[in-house]
Amino acid sequence: MSWFTRKDKGILTPTESKREAPDGLWYQCPSCKKAMHTREHRLLAYTCSNCNYHEKIGSQEYFELLFDQTRYTELDAMLSSGDPLNFVDTKKYPDRIRATEKKTGLKDAVRTAHGKMNDADIVISAMDFSFIGGSMGSVVGEKIARGIDYALEHKIPFLMISKSGGARMMEAGFSLMQMAKTSAKLALLAEAGIPYISLLTDPTTGGVTASYAMLGDFNISEPGALIGFAGPRVIRETIGKDLPKGFQSAEFVLEHGFLDFIVDRKDLKDKLSSLLGMLA
Ligand SMILES: [Zn+2]
Repeated sequence: MSWFTRKDKGILTPTESKREAPDGLWYQCPSCKKAMHTREHRLLAYTCSNCNYHEKIGSQEYFELLFDQTRYTELDAMLSSGDPLNFVDTKKYPDRIRATEKKTGLKDAVRTAHGKMNDADIVISAMDFSFIGGSMGSVVGEKIARGIDYALEHKIPFLMISKSGGARMMEAGFSLMQMAKTSAKLALLAEAGIPYISLLTDPTTGGVTASYAMLGDFNISEPGALIGFAGPRVIRETIGKDLPKGFQSAEFVLEHGFLDFIVDRKDLKDKLSSLLGMLA
């Protein structure tokens, strides 16, 4: 017998009265719970005015933050995924792709664009976590590879903004091949002396960390980002030990020598420009 039984049945609160404020007007920081105006939040590059929590944002927001007057040309915008393995989980893979396209308005988990940042040319590939967890499948690898080709051909610096749960399981081995493909392309970029900066954002894990995200001339991150290869639970169970505090945070990873620096998103554009100025 349960310790508590509800006497009155059917007590329901309509969804609209559960909300504390109308949608789209206020943003509540998930870290410190402070509410702020969405416009103010946007002006602060989607960081909290109180605790500086960096909200997860997608390619659209990064393009708006980094390209001058938000003017850019998207490359390979229409590339979308096939179904090499006839993969089915709770849905058929092509159905999942189509449903995600419809929900997010995106064609896959990365977008690449060419434009100007503080008057200098740059190619940016930015990942979208909202598209199947930012997972790296063939399209992600191919778009990044083509972005690097474009940067090579036009001798323009390349910026990769990673945000990923790792390889896309629906493409299995085809996903893992993307690690080799993008790494080989980046080697060509390095040979040609064209700068490559990798920005790791919250979260960057799995095969992405094990390939292009850690191959920058500079590997940088946003504050508080989760960066790792395997998740903490898997590691804990494998090594049979508790993990140190803050394990896999950008700050921890920096302290252990895997990052060059952490950059506040509000300073990102100018920091990137001065870094590229140094590398040129
Ligand atoms: Zn906050």
